[in-house]
Amino acid sequence: MTVEQSTVLVIGGGVGGLATAIRLQVLGHQVTLVERNAQVGGKLAVLTDGGYSFDIGPSLMTLPAVFEELCALAGTSLNAEMDLVRLDPQFSYRWTDGSELLIHDDPGATTAAVEGLAPGSGAEWERYADRAERIWEVSERTFFAGPMGHPWEMVKRMRSPLDLWAIDSLRSLHRSASRAFSDPRLVQLVDRYATYSGSSPYRAPATLACISHIEAKYGCWYPMGGLGVLASAIEALARRVGVEIRTSTEVTALRTSGGRITAAELRAVEPDPTAQASELLTADIVIANADAEHLYRDLLGDAAALRKVQRADRSSSGFVICAGVKGQTPGLTHHNVWFSEEYRTEFAQIAAGEIPDDPTIYACVSSVTDPSQAPAGNENWFLLINTAPAPDGAGSGVDRSVATERVLSGLARRGVDLRDRIEVLHTLTPTDLAERYRAPGGAIYGTSSNGRRAAFSRPSNTTDYRNLFLVGGSSHPGGGLPLVTMSARIVAELVGAPSASTRSNKKSSGS
Ligand SMILES: Cc1cc2nc3c(=O)[nH]c(=O)nc-3n(C[C@H](O)[C@H](O)[C@H](O)COP(=O)(O)OP(=O)(O)OC[C@H]3O[C@@H](n4cnc5c(N)ncnc54)[C@H](O)[C@@H]3O)c2cc1C
Repeated sequence: MTVEQSTVLVIGGGVGGLATAIRLQVLGHQVTLVERNAQVGGKLAVLTDGGYSFDIGPSLMTLPAVFEELCALAGTSLNAEMDLVRLDPQFSYRWTDGSELLIHDDPGATTAAVEGLAPGSGAEWERYADRAERIWEVSERTFFAGPMGHPWEMVKRMRSPLDLWAIDSLRSLHRSASRAFSDPRLVQLVDRYATYSGSSPYRAPATLACISHIEAKYGCWYPMGGLGVLASAIEALARRVGVEIRTSTEVTALRTSGGRITAAELRAVEPDPTAQASELLTADIVIANADAEHLYRDLLGDAAALRKVQRADRSSSGFVICAGVKGQTPGLTHHNVWFSEEYRTEFAQIAAGEIPDDPTIYACVSSVTDPSQAPAGNENWFLLINTAPAPDGAGSGVDRSVATERVLSGLARRGVDLRDRIEVLHTLTPTDLAERYRAPGGAIYGTSSNGRRAAFSRPSNTTDYRNLFLVGGSSHPGGGLPLVTMSARIVAELVGAPSASTRSNKKSSGS
């Protein structure tokens, strides 16, 4: 029997889209990936100015094995593609009382540091670490291992009903942390993991504790040259296996008939002179790496599917400052967090759409590890605070100058005054994120994990359209670089290899 090649269109060149394209091309499909921006990578993006380089999306790489698997499919390895550094210390956490905790790569050293911060807490930390390990062990082979079109699919992947109990999805992260630690600083530290999925610790499930195990066991990583190196490497893999990548090309609508996608309307994004004006592209299978809300509202006009997505809250967004800073800051590590005095007040203000008066400030200064990221002797500060997503149709929801002042004065109050040392400054509001990545409201992770069922009711990888699949941060299993790459594995398994019944490519110009 002759096996025909099937054609696949991937809408969006984020990491999830690229990873799916690689997997499907390797399986034997002919994949075309269409990206509206001038380069692929999506939120994994870089900004350079005045000799400074800033990763303006992800700054932390975890679970490298997920990317290793992708490299292996394309006949290479992570080490061959980049120079990866396992960071130690991983993070420095600082509180308003002046105390500081370093999280080390060696869990034993972290336990000792926790004991030094709050005598008696080392044993609590170890017990929490054991619980986080168990949550990860179960989640990895159940929640993350396949699609979640229906909760039953996850139940089928469970070994016993005890698995359901083990993932601790009924309590909030904050409740479990409050029970585990007697020192409020450690509760706040663990609560912060909710923000890795754009959620609130008071509403997101305790399941997110598994992130602490992921960092402790598998490390916090940095590719020399910046996170953008990962985007370039994945793009190169895609091209190497034969994926056709078309940048500055936007999908403006999807045509449907008989419960299938029949064609995509494409338009060149100005000012790329090489892109074609307008075009109709047909494909046997369509993979949407674009945000699910954008897909159902703008590309399909499917009100029922859109309503389903909108049943969950959008994830949080963020306000970003990229500051090129003269000189060196004593005591700085690669990843730094300065906590707010009152986490509950901060999250209440975020939920109300306000810029927190006293935001928790995250700073990645990769020049600490990689001097190539800043002019000699200087530092590249990527600063991020959590904000609500921008409301539809209104302004940015975040006043740039108010937010900048709040971050810089907050740092100054904590003894790190950058204000006279800044020589390059760029900011990104939720609206900027929305425009750059077509992420409604600038929500970083699609929908949030707030609420007991939220993680289980994210947009499914399969859809009501037989040949349309969703991949990436707004669909199952969620956002973050490793998760969107796992999402690609799930989607590739759902699509499978081309069968003899698939049609061959048909392309026509002019719509
Ligand atoms: C400020 C910030 C900090 C972050 N920090 C971290 C971190 O430290 N670690 C971590 O793991 N993750 C982090 N993340 C999250 C991570 O970046 C994302 O979850 C992940 O990159 C999303 O990948 P994706 O596959 O969903 O695609 P996206 O990156 O969302 O890309 C989707 C692509 O689709 C394109 N597109 C959309 N609509 C169309 C259309 N109609 N036609 C053509 N193209 C279209 C967009 O232009 C975009 O390039 C961060 C994100 C941000 C913004």
